[in-house]
Amino acid sequence: MALRAPRGTEDLLPEAYANWKFLTERADEIFSRYGYLYIETPLFEHLDVFVHGIGESSDVVSKEMFRVLSPDGYSKVAAGKAESLKADQRLALRPEGTASVVRAVLEHSLIMPGSAPIKLMYSGPMFRAERQQRGRLRQFHQIGAECLGAPDVMADAEVIIMLMEFFERAGLKKDSLTLLINTLGDDNCRPQYRQEIQDYLLKYKDELPEETLRQAELNPLRAFDSKIERVQEIMADAPLLKDRLCDECKKHYEELKSYLDAAGISYEEDPRLVRGLDYYTRTVFEIQVKDGLGAQNAIGGGGRYDKLIEISGGKPTPALGFAVGMERILLALEDQEALPAHPRQKQIYVAYPNEHTKAEAFFVVQRLRSEGFVVETDYQGRSLKSQLKLANKLQVAYVAILGEDEIAQKSVRLKDMDKGTEELVAYDNLAAHIVL
Ligand code: AMP
Repeated sequence: MALRAPRGTEDLLPEAYANWKFLTERADEIFSRYGYLYIETPLFEHLDVFVHGIGESSDVVSKEMFRVLSPDGYSKVAAGKAESLKADQRLALRPEGTASVVRAVLEHSLIMPGSAPIKLMYSGPMFRAERQQRGRLRQFHQIGAECLGAPDVMADAEVIIMLMEFFERAGLKKDSLTLLINTLGDDNCRPQYRQEIQDYLLKYKDELPEETLRQAELNPLRAFDSKIERVQEIMADAPLLKDRLCDECKKHYEELKSYLDAAGISYEEDPRLVRGLDYYTRTVFEIQVKDGLGAQNAIGGGGRYDKLIEISGGKPTPALGFAVGMERILLALEDQEALPAHPRQKQIYVAYPNEHTKAEAFFVVQRLRSEGFVVETDYQGRSLKSQLKLANKLQVAYVAILGEDEIAQKSVRLKDMDKGTEELVAYDNLAAHIVL
């Protein structure tokens, strides 16, 4: 059997890499203006980072994590002794970035008493054992940003504005996106509401599938996210948190909206938006593309997670962030025919007629490269005629021919392929002659 990439993974081929680079550069350009600096965390972490950081009730933790085993750990599992794995042998590929960033920030004590908010951005692969579909992969890539230490609602607004600016700069049409916002309350108002939803769900106990009953136990709000039709019907009549918010949360949410209004950002309020992860408090948001991506139409989302740092062992630190899916943004750009063109850098082809001139050609190739040009030459023993044909096919800007006569004069015969002109140019004058 021919070897293939694993299901749910994609090779990033050179052609697509330019789009990739384009996206990360746009993120870098926009986010850095807001003070974000890059962080890179390991692709795998201790399992507990995600179990504590994301929450046991989330699909990501309960069903989708890829475990990582060292050879020792593998032997234990293969021998049916998984329970004897030590804590540091229980590892998982990261399914998202926030929990890892928080772990790194705490490990390196980046938040000191009295310090300004820490603003960090990242990009890279994430891993979830999901069923593959268009826009849903098992290894996918996110760009994310986390702002730690900012309780003010201005930070919520700023993060959303920055994200919308990024989508626009990436080339997505403004009216093709829907920004959904909601608030999930805080420790004051959410516990009573959580209880209310749990009681509400348990009224339908006999009709609920196992999975929803488990959710009802661990995080009943997640039932709003359910894909199961009967659960959706039940949740359509469920009480909403927006009618139960405490004054502080109400104020926070109203202020968020007024900042977004002032910035001219359109949004839709979705009182049922809870998002899949357990750690959010107050603001949550999601950006969807209106057409094309079907069920996988969320291109990014995030929210405030004021409790996460404390849960992870740090001092209580209000924080918020988001992540966007690179593959989905690129699919949306493709659907909108908005992918940028990436013209290749213009090249010079150094052609030589035979073995005797090869060493000198090699010298000229290297010299031109050291002068900053993109240079190709022949490595296949082609005839001069066939080299010139190839250069034409490559649409190079110049061909530099190095025959014996030219070499004797420390010169090349430089053909300007656009103008169709040709002249003898000394090596020393080449750089000045080439106009790209
Ligand atoms: P989440 O971490 O689940 O909030 O996801 C943030 C963003 O990552 C989503 O809005 C998607 O754009 C993207 N994403 C999440 N899961 C996948 C996946 N399995 N395949 C591709 N993109 C994904």
